[in-house]
Amino acid sequence: MPHVHRRPKMSISRCALLCLSALLALSSTASAAENGFEYGSGLRGPAEWGGFCANGTKQSPINVVIADTVLDKSLRDRLDTEYGKCTYAVIINDKSAHHLDVEGDGSFGNLTLNGVKYELVKFHFHSPSEHTIDGVSFDLEMHLFHKSADGKFAVIAIFFNESHDDDAESPFLKQVFSWLPNITQPDTNVTTMAPITLESLPLQGSYAQYSGSLTTPPCTEGVSWVVMLNETQKMSCPQFGAYQKVFPEANNRPVQNTRCRSVTRFEHA
Ligand SMILES: [Zn+2]
Repeated sequence: MPHVHRRPKMSISRCALLCLSALLALSSTASAAENGFEYGSGLRGPAEWGGFCANGTKQSPINVVIADTVLDKSLRDRLDTEYGKCTYAVIINDKSAHHLDVEGDGSFGNLTLNGVKYELVKFHFHSPSEHTIDGVSFDLEMHLFHKSADGKFAVIAIFFNESHDDDAESPFLKQVFSWLPNITQPDTNVTTMAPITLESLPLQGSYAQYSGSLTTPPCTEGVSWVVMLNETQKMSCPQFGAYQKVFPEANNRPVQNTRCRSVTRFEHA
């Protein structure tokens, strides 16, 4: 008796669905890779971003209205961070992301927030700021980007303003911005070969917490945001000038509707 190989049966509709979803997956990957995203009012600007960016209900950034925030006495007076020193960092002029990105040779350390431990994997900058406080914008907003073991995101936002004060130079920014002349061209990077320390970052005092999203496509939601409300950090005019020389274009997504989301606040005594 000849051995008959049975071909697995697949209905036409199932095949059609599979083919269709494969095609859709291909086209969405291709369009994301080809088109990317931009800022401003053009065809790829924030108003045209799709997916969660268009349909989400918990999007970021937001305007934090202090009077509408809810004081939460269970919040700690200092964020629970353990930031160590990386042995070196890679500073990237990321053309497709439209920002200056800093990645360590491993982890920069950890943040524990609401009982979840996150690893600080990189940080980057937006100018002008993405979040606003009572409608006020800032010159620069740094995002410390953390990821948990199960893939959740937490971001700490810190604001900087240009200052003419004699002591305005930011020692923290100096570690990064001194490398700007090495990455004037898009899609270039430089390895610092010197540790970047996060010790001088102001992670104590008042801050707000809320649930939002990534501020760039795909605008994934479920991101735990910590927006520092303590004293705005200073940066000197030459420091901000050096940044703007390499990144002259605005890269801030406009503020999104809070849709009655609660924003909690720790108020430093
Ligand atoms: Zn960001």
